[in-house]
Formats: sequence, structure tokens, C-alpha cells
Amino acid sequence: MHELSLCRSIYGIVDRARGDRPVEVVHLQIGQLRQVVPQTLAYCWDVITAETPLAGSRLDVDHVPVVLDCACGARTTVGEELVLTCAACDGADVTLRTGEELMVTAVDLTATVPAGSGDAISRDG
Ligand SMILES: [Zn+2]
Repeated sequence: MHELSLCRSIYGIVDRARGDRPVEVVHLQIGQLRQVVPQTLAYCWDVITAETPLAGSRLDVDHVPVVLDCACGARTTVGEELVLTCAACDGADVTLRTGEELMVTAVDLTATVPAGSGDAISRDG
């Protein structure tokens, strides 16, 4: 289950990025070639973040399809079957354009402005 180690890496990145601020949503780009199962990833994230400051945050995954550039000039978007050949000429002389992404693209911090309270913001000087 590589989703678990993946979540550990994500946790490290997010924890550094957030400082001491609470996190609501972590946005990810994950290429299709990474073979990540979304449900498993969400489950592992809950496990990893349990009883940490990131507990309750959720992952928002942007799944990036596999796109190939062929030597013939055609561009192929690969479907579920992950057939890595050109759709136009059936050639295998292709370059991977997208599909290997694995990155944290944004972190949404929890809005912590308390409603109806004037105490949260103090102005010194
Ligand atoms: Zn081709």
C-alpha cells in the first residue's frame, strides 16, 4: 500500500508549509501513472493525520491523465487501460508529457476569524 508512504511525504510537505496554522484542504496533482487509489489515499491520510494538528483536514486530488507526444506529431491522451502507444500511428516512439505528477499544489488554511468577537485582532501602536 504505497498510499501510506505517499501520505507521510505529503504530511511532511504540508506541515512545513503551514507553520502553526490549521489546515482545511490539501490540494494535490497526481498523475495516472502513479496508480494511486483515491479512496485508499483518503483513508491513509486520516490514519497519518489522526491526533496530529492536521487531523480533520482533507485531500483534494486533481487526477492528471497520461498524455503522450509521438514522433509522428500526434498527441494521445491515454485512457483507463494505460496503453502507452500513439493513437494515430500506433507507434511506441512516444514521449511522456503528463501523467507522472505527484505534487502538493496548494494548501487551504482554515479560516479562524471568530464571528462576533473583537478580541482576536489587536492593534499595538
Ligand atoms: Zn504517432
